[in-house]
Amino acid sequence: MQLSDMGASNSCFAAVVVDIPSRALSEPFAYGVPEHLACDIELGCTVLIPFGRRVALGYVIDIAPELDELSFAEGVSPARVKPLRAIVAGSSCASYFAEAALWMSGEYVASLAECLRLFLPPGGTPRLKRRADGTYEVEPPAVAEARERVVSLTIDGNTYVPPANATRQRQLLAALSCGPVTTRELNLLYTDLSAAIRTLEKKGVVQVEERRAWRRADSGTSLSSACAVQPRQLTAGQVEALDAIEHARCERAGSVVLVDGVTGSGKTEVYLSAIERVLADGGEACVLVPEISLTAQTVGRFRSRFGESVAVFHSRLSAGERLDQWDMVRTGAARVVVGARSALFCPFRNLKLIVIDEEHEQSYKQGSAPRYHAREVAAHIARRLRIPLVLGSATPSAEALGRCAEGSYLGQRWQRVEMPERPGGAVLPRVVVADLRREFAAGSRSMFSQVLYDELMGVAERGEKAVLLHNRRGFAPFLMCRECGCVPTCKHCSTALTYHERTHTLECHTCGATYHVRPYPAVGSACPKCGSRYLAKMGLGTQQVEDALRAIMPPHVQVIRMDADSTKAKDAHKQLLEQFDAAECAVLLGTQMIAKGLDFPEVTLVGVVNADYALKMPDFRAQERAYDLLEQVAGRAGRGERPGTVVIQTYLPDNPVIRAVAGHDRSLFTAYDLAQREEASYPPYVRLANVVVWGRDERATRVYAERFAALVREAVADVSLAFVDPVQEGELSLADPTRSPVVLGPTSCVVERAKDRFRFHFMVKCPLGYHVSRVLGECLRELGSQSDISVSVDVDAYDLM
Ligand code: ADP
Ligand code: ZN
Ligand code: ZN
Repeated sequence: MQLSDMGASNSCFAAVVVDIPSRALSEPFAYGVPEHLACDIELGCTVLIPFGRRVALGYVIDIAPELDELSFAEGVSPARVKPLRAIVAGSSCASYFAEAALWMSGEYVASLAECLRLFLPPGGTPRLKRRADGTYEVEPPAVAEARERVVSLTIDGNTYVPPANATRQRQLLAALSCGPVTTRELNLLYTDLSAAIRTLEKKGVVQVEERRAWRRADSGTSLSSACAVQPRQLTAGQVEALDAIEHARCERAGSVVLVDGVTGSGKTEVYLSAIERVLADGGEACVLVPEISLTAQTVGRFRSRFGESVAVFHSRLSAGERLDQWDMVRTGAARVVVGARSALFCPFRNLKLIVIDEEHEQSYKQGSAPRYHAREVAAHIARRLRIPLVLGSATPSAEALGRCAEGSYLGQRWQRVEMPERPGGAVLPRVVVADLRREFAAGSRSMFSQVLYDELMGVAERGEKAVLLHNRRGFAPFLMCRECGCVPTCKHCSTALTYHERTHTLECHTCGATYHVRPYPAVGSACPKCGSRYLAKMGLGTQQVEDALRAIMPPHVQVIRMDADSTKAKDAHKQLLEQFDAAECAVLLGTQMIAKGLDFPEVTLVGVVNADYALKMPDFRAQERAYDLLEQVAGRAGRGERPGTVVIQTYLPDNPVIRAVAGHDRSLFTAYDLAQREEASYPPYVRLANVVVWGRDERATRVYAERFAALVREAVADVSLAFVDPVQEGELSLADPTRSPVVLGPTSCVVERAKDRFRFHFMVKCPLGYHVSRVLGECLRELGSQSDISVSVDVDAYDLM
């Protein structure tokens, strides 16, 4: 595409976000729209603009007939406004994209361009390329639409009789007798019909049309549970939940409904019924599920109810598939979207309902900039569009529970509906806690306690199925000195090293460094700190548990292992589940990836090999996560007619998390967890932002972090209630224990070094409703960036390591 300057007069004005990834450019710029472009300009389109001495691409986020009516153009003199040069791509965003991106940019201290890009078609935006002679060229998007050719009989074609020797023609006519067929399918059926198609097309017997082909984002599955049969009768809890959602829909106030339902209580059915009503009214629905449970099973349930009008988004899609799913939504071919957090940014035309399943899941928080939380963005969109946001969980987050207890948050209504029962009288499983201290004292060296062993044998005898969880989140086999407790760490990263049996190496999973060692009882084994030879291996791999399991289980029991290693291949995850589904009698052993969402009615036993790894993470949310994990995995048992048993092995049987799961009494855990958080001023009682600074030069990095923290301290000391979100202003000091913001640190991070970078962080705790992002953003701008030092500002942080 050739670019040229047009000197025509402006017929209107546009606010444009320049696509240059820099915080300094967060504000949009005003441009004039020349007359010849005025017809085509629309919100969300990509334009080519002069920018300084160069040209750049940008996105239109506001259009106004006069400069002084344009947002962000306050004080801009008309003489300084340059005309934009060209429109390089039309809009394909949801109508609310600009407003939502602006909000995100303000809320999460992220650049506006970065936030806007979330709403643009995946892989489908043009790029600017500089030619050797200094001029620029706009490159079209790398990902293109797929086309297909469809052959059909014409009206005249029906009476056409092919010559006796024209076999190909007869094959073609036979294939088309039941309706149009694509050329790809024809060529699969018969070797090559292209000559016959051409001949008959010339004769006017068939016609060939080209159309857009949708690349399917998922393959089918044979899983019986992937089909959501409409239940004959809803449970009382389901009716109540649906009523609340329906009420929120009619009310059009954009309120939030938390469906707090025990595992297996039929939350999915609630979503499906609510979506049915939305579709009947011509609306669209967006369903977010955690990436980990975006399986054939979940997608299949939605497809079985809504057929082809379901678009699917997950991280394993190819660029082409992603673009097709996107366009299916944009064109209205799909009216239900099921996907991971990014599905929220689809080009909806008439969004009427947002559902977030497993609302408490950490994967809804994006780990890189913009560090948004899908629940908060969804709540914002719901409030703006005045549509209901439905959150579902068996273990709601402290944030959701806290807001529902208050009844509202930032002016939005939050309401909780309980679904305490499973349909059809299925009962919650019996939970047994196996105290590993006692097993050890009694001389047992097996990884299976007596009770778990007995239960496994029972499953084998009765020909049932079991699920065995070996949680390894944030945990890997390591070496530990039995005498001094020293755990070898990486000298570049200070993270605990992982032991690899086969190669006798310790490996760092942050930077990849390896160290050769031999643990006890090998000769030469020595603790790096005290020299003791009892440097022993700690922690079991799933592989080892699998070996031990195979050794004790009778041969007719299938043992299926599901972990990162066994699910590397495409579709392996699905195949393993199908294998488990089809087996007569089997044990599914796996990491946390098996804890969620699986619905196999024949599972009667769930075992947890060691619950303690989850409890011991250095994070204020560790207990919440452990509770969630145990409750979820326990929920896999007894979903059918036969009752289930759960065996939890632990060295900490008195921990409130263990007691709550064992007693089916969440309040034992929530009361303890919330009290601890209130005591120590953690969310949901305050907002927490975590600022991480990292660089190669330890001193320079620390100094930068200290200067940043000092600036923030100064800014928050000036208790400027002006910063407070006006919605909350009145109730602020009453609702919050800390009343005014506090800055903690800086100190070095738990992971002190990563990839030879020193890491420091400081935290800001502040009252709910305090606009901490604005303070941090302003301080960061004032401080300026420094070469070789990186900063991440994480508002409402989840990862504190
Ligand atoms: P959750 O998501 O709450 O864990 P699911 O939605 O997976 O629960 O439902 C658990 C099982 O109960 C599914 O097999 C589902 O088909 C079934 N189910 C849901 N609602 C009903 C109902 N009203 N009557 C009978 N079975 C139901
Ligand atoms: Zn030692
Ligand atoms: Zn390292």
